[in-house]
Amino acid sequence: MMRRRDFIVHTPEEIVRIRAAAHAAALAREEIASLAKPGMTTRQLDDLAGAVIRSMGGIPTFLNYAGFPRNICISVNDVVVHGIANDYVMKEGDIVSIDVGVTLNGGIGDTAKTVVLGDKRTSKDIESLMTGTQEALEAGILAAKAGRHIHDISEAVAKTARQYKLGVVRDLVGHGCGIQLHEPPEVPNFVTKSPGPQLVPGMVLCIEPMFNLGTHRVYVEPDQWTVRTQDGRPSAHFEHMILIEENQTEVLTRV
Ligand code: MG
Repeated sequence: MMRRRDFIVHTPEEIVRIRAAAHAAALAREEIASLAKPGMTTRQLDDLAGAVIRSMGGIPTFLNYAGFPRNICISVNDVVVHGIANDYVMKEGDIVSIDVGVTLNGGIGDTAKTVVLGDKRTSKDIESLMTGTQEALEAGILAAKAGRHIHDISEAVAKTARQYKLGVVRDLVGHGCGIQLHEPPEVPNFVTKSPGPQLVPGMVLCIEPMFNLGTHRVYVEPDQWTVRTQDGRPSAHFEHMILIEENQTEVLTRV
């Protein structure tokens, strides 16, 4: 691992471990999302998530990270991210973000998706929240090419949010990842003044739009983790981990 001032380039040996951890995280994300059902508490889902991750030989990265008390982050409706599983009983129509970290053989995978529970038809608003956030992630991935800058990813993500008229959370950002959960650089979902580091082969980035149906403003609950929208309207979160290579960008958490 070569630490520059503001970004990290991973060695080929590290990338082997990171790729395996990211793949496990992606499989876990899909399995956990499919297990989420109305009538289940978020704590029950978190317990299942821990079992899924450990069955793959991994360790839940978020457990005890800076004191985080659960295996994964489960963020329902107006909770944007970092939701702590509890006795809340999930119901039909809930918008549930599942953010999974897997540590495997010294590599770390970090990925998230949001699902709407049950078979009820969703409203136009919710559909646009879900579609817009996913499209923003894909636009960010397409913009992430060697030689370009972090700024290009941010611009592509932010442009999609504007098209869908969604609120872009500014208090939280994407990040480098791989050997540590959070590595430099930051990957904002909004345009900043600085272009940020240039993208070079060996960089591993988590792109993770967090979009709100209403205001972009959020607050953190007294538990110091749970991030909620200020207006109580719902939020969605999708996250992929990518590897910058010379001639292509590999999405490490695609299944
Ligand atoms: Mg992340």
